[in-house]
Amino acid sequence: MVPLSTREELVIGRYAEIALKGGNRRPFERALVRRVKDQLGERARVEVSGGRVLVHLVPGAALSDATLALCRSFGVVSAQPAVRLLRPVEMSEVASEVIALAQQAIQRGASSFKVAARRADKGFFLNSLELNRVLGAAVAEATGLRVDVHHSDLELEVDVRPDAVFLAGVRVAGPGGLPTGVSGRAVALLSGGIDSPVAAYLAAKRGLALSAVYFHTFPYTGEGARQKVYDLCRRLTVYAGPVRLWVVHFTEIQEAIAELVPEPMRTVVARRMMVRLAEEVARREHAGALITGDSLGQVASQTLEALSAIGEISTLPLLRPLVAWDKTEIVSLARRIDTYSVSIRPFDDCCVLFAPQHPRTRPTRAEAARAEERLDIKTLMASALRKSERLRATPGSLEPLTLQDVR
Ligand code: ATP
Ligand code: MG
Repeated sequence: MVPLSTREELVIGRYAEIALKGGNRRPFERALVRRVKDQLGERARVEVSGGRVLVHLVPGAALSDATLALCRSFGVVSAQPAVRLLRPVEMSEVASEVIALAQQAIQRGASSFKVAARRADKGFFLNSLELNRVLGAAVAEATGLRVDVHHSDLELEVDVRPDAVFLAGVRVAGPGGLPTGVSGRAVALLSGGIDSPVAAYLAAKRGLALSAVYFHTFPYTGEGARQKVYDLCRRLTVYAGPVRLWVVHFTEIQEAIAELVPEPMRTVVARRMMVRLAEEVARREHAGALITGDSLGQVASQTLEALSAIGEISTLPLLRPLVAWDKTEIVSLARRIDTYSVSIRPFDDCCVLFAPQHPRTRPTRAEAARAEERLDIKTLMASALRKSERLRATPGSLEPLTLQDVR
């Protein structure tokens, strides 16, 4: 058994150089390290070295946890488990470590492999070809993996250096994108449906920290709908880090709209009120954009005309990452980021309940302004915000915030 100090497990995170022109590099790397540390806490030491993030595990911590943490950090292109053995070291120890790395790769679906050895220390008793052959034979025998030097699923890297032997296994794909926060902060309008969490994920992937807002129309929509948004928010935090969620009391506004706005225009006006309130939330969250799950042509409120009549309210950029996505594409990403099963729970959001029989599909901006003339927008907004709640979501918790906690 090798004493622990002579053996170290680590995971190598690679990121795309393309994002790192000029002065962006340091903030990018700092944000990435922060995000990985957030997930692993005391279980690892995280550093940047040679244009990579190295996650050094403390003894007893699981390599798979560190790999997963990197694979959930935006900015990471791949995560590769590795082992460093201080020399002197026996070939049998090297072989058993390489076999262990191969076994991890089998769990991820590898069926063929090759060993790619390098020998920086020319004095080592085997040259790189001999290392490839000896270790390749050991892995094939122990695991049943097939050797394929041209198109292998797995390249087992062996690097013999003067002070240590460095071994690295499968490269697991990361999410790509930019580290959380480097692009600023945005407020995602989360409805509990399928689209909005996917939109929030995509925006977060481009480096935006997230705050979220949900417009709750209690008792027309029940606690099940609110719980969906809570759960969606927590699932988003797995990738995007902590999210502050505002639950805005929307009931009085919906009732006023039902009373005072011509029926075909109600959805557009409700959306305009949401945008106004979301902007107010953004101001308090120091956020620079709004995110919605709109997809062009999907429903009546998502025609170009409706998007225009709703979007004109916003003075902040209104990001619609799904504007050109088909529902099947959205569903497939929703499944991958594990929000789909929550989104399809059968609790309608307010907009379904208050939806007009025959919505106006091509409203002009002037019509929208006229339709809301009888609403006391300022008073309604102030009341809705006063009655709103704020919470802080992480993967494992959802806690109410007091006013002082809100930046
Ligand atoms: P989703 O699946 O995200 O609910 P959708 O296809 O049902 O989207 P709409 O209901 O027309 O579309 O809503 C369009 C967008 O408006 C949503 O993606 C979301 O960003 C926002 N939105 C709608 N209702 C709410 C709500 N109750 N709270 C917060 N945001 C909302
Ligand atoms: Mg919806």
